[in-house]
Amino acid sequence: MIDLTAAEIRDGVRAGKWKAREVVEAHLARIAAIDPKLHAFLHVDAAGARAAADRVDASSSKGPLAGVPLAVKDNMCQRGIPTTCASKILEGFRPPYDATALLRALAAGAVPVGHTNLDEFAMGSSTENSAYGPSRNPWDTTRAPGGSSGGSCAAVAARMAPLAFGSDTGGSIRQPAALCGVVGMKPTYGRVSRYGLVAFASSLDQIGPIARTVRDAAMFLQAFAGHDALDSTSAPAEVPDYEKELEAGVKGLRVGVPKEFFGAGTDPGVRAAIDAALRLLQKQGATLVEISLPHTDYGIAAYYVIAPCEASSNLARYDGVRFGHRAKSFDGLVDMYRKSRTEGFGEEVRRRILLGTFALSSGYYEAYYKKALQVRRLIKNDFDEAWKKVDVIAGPTSPIPAFRIGEKANDPIAMYLCDVLTVTAPLAGIPGISVPAGFTGEGLPVGLQLLGKEWSEAMLLRAGRAYERETEFWKRSPAL
Ligand code: GLN
Repeated sequence: MIDLTAAEIRDGVRAGKWKAREVVEAHLARIAAIDPKLHAFLHVDAAGARAAADRVDASSSKGPLAGVPLAVKDNMCQRGIPTTCASKILEGFRPPYDATALLRALAAGAVPVGHTNLDEFAMGSSTENSAYGPSRNPWDTTRAPGGSSGGSCAAVAARMAPLAFGSDTGGSIRQPAALCGVVGMKPTYGRVSRYGLVAFASSLDQIGPIARTVRDAAMFLQAFAGHDALDSTSAPAEVPDYEKELEAGVKGLRVGVPKEFFGAGTDPGVRAAIDAALRLLQKQGATLVEISLPHTDYGIAAYYVIAPCEASSNLARYDGVRFGHRAKSFDGLVDMYRKSRTEGFGEEVRRRILLGTFALSSGYYEAYYKKALQVRRLIKNDFDEAWKKVDVIAGPTSPIPAFRIGEKANDPIAMYLCDVLTVTAPLAGIPGISVPAGFTGEGLPVGLQLLGKEWSEAMLLRAGRAYERETEFWKRSPAL
């Protein structure tokens, strides 16, 4: 049962072939057996999962995700379930409400099994910044699964849940999806409600689907995309039927290949896998067009100013008064703030708060924050130019495959540079998907990244599906 796709599980539950309860028991057993090796989960809610499955079995209407086990990134609020963002500062926090995207998945019949590990407040690319210890890559447990949605991607790759929620601010869905060999999509900014997603950088954050197949990702996104009155930045635009043209192929599609996406730091195994993927798309009838996104290299610098600036503002709410951790002993109000925040936040989060506060401070605002916003516009202009010539942009999701745990942990700049190919899409607000594209010589997964213009999710899913149909890398399962 753990090898079934979400679509197969749902269809079987609807047809009475199996019960949601049987499906969830198989996945809970898998979690109990495998998760001690991977630490993908911070909290497993077996009782809640069983109760949700029983409700699906008892109900006469079986929704589009009926009986499908679902892992939830631990920065999404779930009523009554510990939601920590992998931070000590939120230890013990049990939200009194559900995130809208989660609420919609539950209404569709999904069965939430637990909350997954992440870099603290989603700041990182490896899950090593979790206050509760790193997750491990199912393909090689000495390596990181990527991040920040590393727990979600490891859980899906290791068959602990066929679907997982992730959030992507600068690559946190696509990069770990690539490193774990699963499908991950960051939707257009505004496609999905952010209500109940703990804010990191509000102008960039988006919730998106993680799955083993493109069809599952499409089916999952369908269930939670769309306008929400509780998030004024969610677009009041109609959600198309993502499965309708999924099998329509890539014939006639113009695929842009930006030369900047194949820089000097690209791993040769990644390069070979992506070259093969591009040739395959061409063989399927797509036209490859060499393009340039000249400001790609400035993405990291702009992102690592803008995201920390927004974070420094968003994280001001953790003051030891209303949420989570408060220092035991302190000498007055300012000391209480200082001690509570120093004890509650990890090193990377503190670094971002300091960087962001500095970049926004009087005298530096124009030099850093405003400048970064101007670069953001140039990056967006690059894409707008590209759409005059191509329908989709293709390249690697990450220049390197999964790296060893500890390898970059003490070098923030090296860690930031991992995001060079993923930060530009959220800066421009456009959608992107990472699809399994084979393996390096060492057997580590590679992700093919496809980017499209605003609201082109259906096209990205269709292109991803066309590629997946010929390759079927998703059928390979890590030996655990
Ligand atoms: N790795 C990036 C960062 O550390 C992106 C994280 C994310 O998308 N949440 O900010």
